[in-house]
Amino acid sequence: MSRQRILLLSLFFLPISLAAAPAEIHANPERMAQHIKALSAFGANADGGVDRVAFSEADLAARAYIRDLMREVGLSVRLDTAGNIIGRREGSEPELPVIMFGSHIDSVPGGGNYDGDVGVIGAIEVIQLLQDNGIRTRHPLEVVSFTNEEGGLTGSRAMIGKIDDRTLSVVSHSGMTIGEGIRAVGGDPNRLDLAERKPGELKAFIELHIEQGAFLDAENIDIGVVEGIVGIRWWDVTIEGRANHAGTTPMNRRWDALLTAAEYILAVNRVATSMPGGQVATVGRIHAAPGAPNVIPGEVVLSLEIRDLDAVKIQRVFDEINVEGKRIADAHFTPIRYDEIDVASPPAPTDERMRRIIAKSAGDLGLSFKFMPSGAGHDAQDMALITPTGMIFVPSVKGISHSPQEFTSAEDMANGASVLLRTVLEIDE
Ligand SMILES: [Zn+2]
Repeated sequence: MSRQRILLLSLFFLPISLAAAPAEIHANPERMAQHIKALSAFGANADGGVDRVAFSEADLAARAYIRDLMREVGLSVRLDTAGNIIGRREGSEPELPVIMFGSHIDSVPGGGNYDGDVGVIGAIEVIQLLQDNGIRTRHPLEVVSFTNEEGGLTGSRAMIGKIDDRTLSVVSHSGMTIGEGIRAVGGDPNRLDLAERKPGELKAFIELHIEQGAFLDAENIDIGVVEGIVGIRWWDVTIEGRANHAGTTPMNRRWDALLTAAEYILAVNRVATSMPGGQVATVGRIHAAPGAPNVIPGEVVLSLEIRDLDAVKIQRVFDEINVEGKRIADAHFTPIRYDEIDVASPPAPTDERMRRIIAKSAGDLGLSFKFMPSGAGHDAQDMALITPTGMIFVPSVKGISHSPQEFTSAEDMANGASVLLRTVLEIDE
């Protein structure tokens, strides 16, 4: 590189070099821990966790706290019609698309203090760091706290225009329908079109979240670079046998649906385990009819769930289970039938460039990282449909989540926020 070009480049970077170089900026663990603690008071239960389901009194109070926190760091706060809390910081080039980041603060019943919360508090921490270091980004920034993540990704679904009347009439954990809940938090279920973000409005979306497996904690790794959110397919599997007297029917003349089910469940596990990769397959529910001790089971209905990052892989796992199932069913004269349940959850890969930026940000900060899928659903899976999306995972001790035992250390939370800051600045370049 010529000396002239170096001079030109350094002139170009001058406005940034006046402020602290992003490499030297680290999130403040004590401040984040204190904000998490303050947030944990809303809906606190005797087990040390929270009951803060969306639209509850606790949720409403926590939402007010988050709005105050956003204002304190200089964000201008608004609610969209889906009730998403959005704090905006203008950029130096207002016509540029928005870099959005955030997560959610609602919990499952009997939830913990980190799932979602770390992402919202971490996003606010990033804005605080920009303020403290006098950094103005080119792009406008928006911090988002999504409505009702745990009860169906309501806020992000609204942003991508995927909420219909049927969804609005679903009764949420609060006892209110989702439509009533949106109204209760200050949104307008009749004008959800106004919450939709149009193509080109967003530059990127990034979500910081605790990892809900135990990979990071077990392997002592600081940061997970999420490759995508796994797709899910569900089936009801019906096994037809013949109900008959359990006392008078000899063992060699039985069409026992539950016996087939037992071998089938083992086969599901065997297939998923024998293929290389991160796929998972589960039988989580089983119903045998007529369900009496003295009757040979005539029919069994069980659930089959398969998850993977790759839709083709999910199909391949299913096909193999199907072959195995047919073999077992034939051996017992008990046919198997599949009814697929529409859960509409295709795999949502994150943006490849986002992954690289997150990995580089972690590396520059001297943090260890690994690429990994997310086995749990997140608002990021919706956002990935309308904008380049990235996800940053931080360890959750023993991988525990959706439980009062959920715990992420202040250092790990701060590491995540530091990576988020660098990622935002890199995207802003
Ligand atoms: Zn979450």
